[in-house]
Amino acid sequence: MTDQPERPVEASCDRCKQTRPLFLYQPDHNMHAIPVPCEWCDRDTQPLLCSRCWGVERERELNAPMSADEQAATEFLLGLAANTGRLIRQAEADRAECEAIAAVSTTRED
Ligand SMILES: [Zn+2]
Ligand SMILES: [Zn+2]
Repeated sequence: MTDQPERPVEASCDRCKQTRPLFLYQPDHNMHAIPVPCEWCDRDTQPLLCSRCWGVERERELNAPMSADEQAATEFLLGLAANTGRLIRQAEADRAECEAIAAVSTTRED
């Protein structure tokens, strides 16, 4: 087992080429509702950036517009997830009720 370095590596930033402590950039949205070409997710290797470039990159990623198709698919999935959540809560409530009834009948049998 190798010990992870406590401090980030100092090397040449992939963006500004200055020698600074570098951080691996990881896109915030590693999941898309539909397969879409995405500059950030499609990279084979994420860049190593200094904190300043890292922040600039994150800003750019967050402000990147979603395609209309992806926007619609995302809203659809979020709606689906909300519905599923409701169904699961309902199912849990039903089960709790059944268990309560079962508990009462068991007690009666005893
Ligand atoms: Zn930089
Ligand atoms: Zn992406």
